[in-house]
Amino acid sequence: MAYQKNSAIAQTSHFGLLSTGLAAIMVVTVLASFSPRGLAQEVDQGPPPRLAADPHADSRIAEAIRQVSADHIRQTIEKLVSFNNRSTISPQDEESIKAGKGIGAAREWIKAEFERYSKDCGGCLEVKTDTFTEQPAERIPKPTEITNVYAVLRGSDPLQANRIVLVTGHYDSRNSDTFNGTDPAPGANDDGSGTAVSLECARVLSQASRTAKYPAKFPVTIIFLTVAGEEQGLNGSKHFAQMAKEQGWKLEAVLNNDIVGGNLGPGQDASVVRVFSEGLPAAATEAEIRRIRMLGGESDSSSRELARYIADVGRSYNAGVKPMMIFRLDRFLRGGDHYSFNQQGFAAVRFTELREDYNHQHQNVRKDDATGIEYGDLPKFVNFDYVAHVARLNAATLASLASSPAPPASVKMLTKNLENDATLTWEPSAGAAAYEVVWRSTSAADWEYAQMVTSGARATLKVSKDNVIFGVRAVDAAGHRSLPVVPEPER
Ligand SMILES: [Zn+2]
Repeated sequence: MAYQKNSAIAQTSHFGLLSTGLAAIMVVTVLASFSPRGLAQEVDQGPPPRLAADPHADSRIAEAIRQVSADHIRQTIEKLVSFNNRSTISPQDEESIKAGKGIGAAREWIKAEFERYSKDCGGCLEVKTDTFTEQPAERIPKPTEITNVYAVLRGSDPLQANRIVLVTGHYDSRNSDTFNGTDPAPGANDDGSGTAVSLECARVLSQASRTAKYPAKFPVTIIFLTVAGEEQGLNGSKHFAQMAKEQGWKLEAVLNNDIVGGNLGPGQDASVVRVFSEGLPAAATEAEIRRIRMLGGESDSSSRELARYIADVGRSYNAGVKPMMIFRLDRFLRGGDHYSFNQQGFAAVRFTELREDYNHQHQNVRKDDATGIEYGDLPKFVNFDYVAHVARLNAATLASLASSPAPPASVKMLTKNLENDATLTWEPSAGAAAYEVVWRSTSAADWEYAQMVTSGARATLKVSKDNVIFGVRAVDAAGHRSLPVVPEPER
């Protein structure tokens, strides 16, 4: 009963009807009247809980995302379209590259663009390629060389630089025929927009570390990736994710941007971007699935925690677009590069505009004279301001994660005794000044409450563990939060 009341208040504030301060006061009041054992969340009478949705921003990150330029994004997308057809099976011989046509020319241009950003930041980016030959498959008629192009902004803290966060988009395109590598396949939205987001994040975040007055230092490594082969079967991302897995990368988050052009047309809502996340992890073992079933953990995959983190970033920074969490791997009949990372056990989500126009995706460029409908994925249907907003949300998420302490390890819920409160323990994280226990009703989509723990790596809360889902996140001295970790029960 008491819990339901609390939950209702939290939801009211989620809808923005109350200021955070007022909501906090109301939560305290409600708790006071329904909780006979008082307000203390820690046994030693700590402060009352606050909402987990309190905004918290870093002014240097806010400044960095202000540098995102819709005009620069437009130039990137128009340049990508100028290669005429970026199908993975389009030409990539020297002559075609020289002529500026085909996927080979696109690849060389992206590489040069990353190198240009690196020059502007004093060589702060390592520009790399991941090239392999894909053998013939359903959509690959002959052995085909596929190249992923990426830039690495190495973490500034040697102890944290092995942690990695990544943003990606696919630079290959297609028209109505998956096997056509010569006729126009502009791919302005799918996925020139996502490629432009990855490039723009690289540009502004590499520059942020050079800002004279308040340089932003990222202790964690950021990778800006553009992949090929998406339209032929996620080939590029599959290869890259496998490499990350085989090499034991500590890849904490993958942001996949695919169709974030905000197609200009009826029904579009440019104030939101969808964030898709898997529930049951693709990489879960049978034993893990049994545990998820036992604990009610269906909505707490690492990808879903990442989606909630993005929602938190969306409340803390003015990106110009709000994330709309969709608790589903992807849209019906469609897939994307985040799934390649999910399959290797990494947290990965997909950003996509709210309303897609299928006349402007995977279509030969043409006009139907009878209906007047224009087909084709052309730049004139892209809302460049919208892409810039999505880039800001991505950049703020990457910067927040790359500034955060490591998520706490070995987070446990003590379940030795039958009791009505909850005791959590964890191992200290590198770079953490404090920890925050967050929780929500089992039926709530997002975290509702937070309790700061400023000393030690243990907390007892007067909340029944049976009725809520807990997470623990590490917080540094400047207030940067790590991804939360949901506790494992320990007997
Ligand atoms: Zn796509």
